[in-house]
Amino acid sequence: MTTAVNGQKNAAYPATGTLHAAAEGETLLRGVLVYGEGEPADVLVRDGVIAEISDAGSLTPGENAEILELDGQVLLPGLIDMHVHLREPGREDTETIASGSAAAARGGFTAVFTMANTDPVTDTPAIAEMVWMKGQQTNLCDVHPVGSITKGLAGKDLTEFGMMAASEAKVRMFSDDGKCVADPQLMRRAVEYSKGLDVLLAQHCEEPRLTEGAVAHEGETAARLGLRGWPRVAEESIVIRDALLARDYGGRTHICHASTEGTVELLRWAKDHDIPLSAEVTPHHLTLTDEKLESYDGVFRVNPPLREHKDALALRAALIDGTIDCVATDHAPHGSEEKCCEFDKARPGMLGLETSLALIARTFITDVPEGEEPQDWRFIARVMSERPAEILKLPGQGRPVAVGEPANLCVVDTQAGWVAHGHELASKASNTPYEGETLPVKVSTTLLRGKVTCRDGEVNN
Ligand SMILES: [Zn+2]
Repeated sequence: MTTAVNGQKNAAYPATGTLHAAAEGETLLRGVLVYGEGEPADVLVRDGVIAEISDAGSLTPGENAEILELDGQVLLPGLIDMHVHLREPGREDTETIASGSAAAARGGFTAVFTMANTDPVTDTPAIAEMVWMKGQQTNLCDVHPVGSITKGLAGKDLTEFGMMAASEAKVRMFSDDGKCVADPQLMRRAVEYSKGLDVLLAQHCEEPRLTEGAVAHEGETAARLGLRGWPRVAEESIVIRDALLARDYGGRTHICHASTEGTVELLRWAKDHDIPLSAEVTPHHLTLTDEKLESYDGVFRVNPPLREHKDALALRAALIDGTIDCVATDHAPHGSEEKCCEFDKARPGMLGLETSLALIARTFITDVPEGEEPQDWRFIARVMSERPAEILKLPGQGRPVAVGEPANLCVVDTQAGWVAHGHELASKASNTPYEGETLPVKVSTTLLRGKVTCRDGEVNN
């Protein structure tokens, strides 16, 4: 084990725990388009670091180098997902750190943050360290544990942020995700505590009194289908409350899975006032609406719920203009018995890790509606890698594709359309809401500190 890569860059940032050693030897990525721009280039990775970048065909690697022919594929920094549920410990029947890491590698991710709503809850250093260590042993993706804000997610007593932050897991983000920290006094104390430690608080914004029994977005569709509604105000009232707490008490607060047009307006106001608030949006809130519920298929139940077209449009515009910082999947595996049942009995949540890059590329690059401006691959690098690394102050990830940087990379084949099928995913669960949909691009290759973790769908354990 070595910490050679960690700490070289962003030295001012809090360190991670001990990382698995970088891969030794050379790998040549031949003929890639760096950020999808310019002429094809050769990128030589040596001992876990980008050693050379030069015109395609101009680099001669050593005898034992692994050569990947990537003719015209797009090279990006490895993706970072700051919101997943890998279910271990407690629900290893639906996902494990190993299976979730495989899904992450296939999706182009080199770091993920797994939420604390496990069984037992990640509310002590021992559990956080177990998660971190298992991720490093699996060595497909850095799996960072998120610590809970309150003990047992009970919403009563704060956990020991300091002890978890100082543990081998170096916990840098705290969240009760799945539940909202609804008590404003408790949230205020959490903000003050987090500020002293320079850790991030991530809020699942849901005023629980307004969502009792709710299973679908409160609107015309839910009314027609006879489903109990989850109103936008339940999210927005917590967003504005936490923005004001951040304004008055500082700290860094992050809004999980923003889902409404009103949330976008509040975030815009907060950013205009230099309030230290960041936000994420999921691929499903960008691409799906509550009309999907017509089928009463439990796969479309998610929390917060799928909303209306105008919300999705506002979320897309906010991601483009930076009001929303980044994409996070909220990857939430569930067994089929938890999804194939009456809609209001289905567990909320959807898979996300293996489809997210393709969905974001489809929404913002390849299938942009007429009249909207397509984005470029730099945009995807920003919202799926660079911004999450900045928000989390995560060293060694989300770095530029440049000589001397750690080789945490992902390669996208823009000619490889594919059809999403839940049973073909590496995840133990299969609850994708995109079953049978054609997606336009595919991650072909992922590298973690120089190790090829995934190549054409094959995960390299
Ligand atoms: Zn949540």
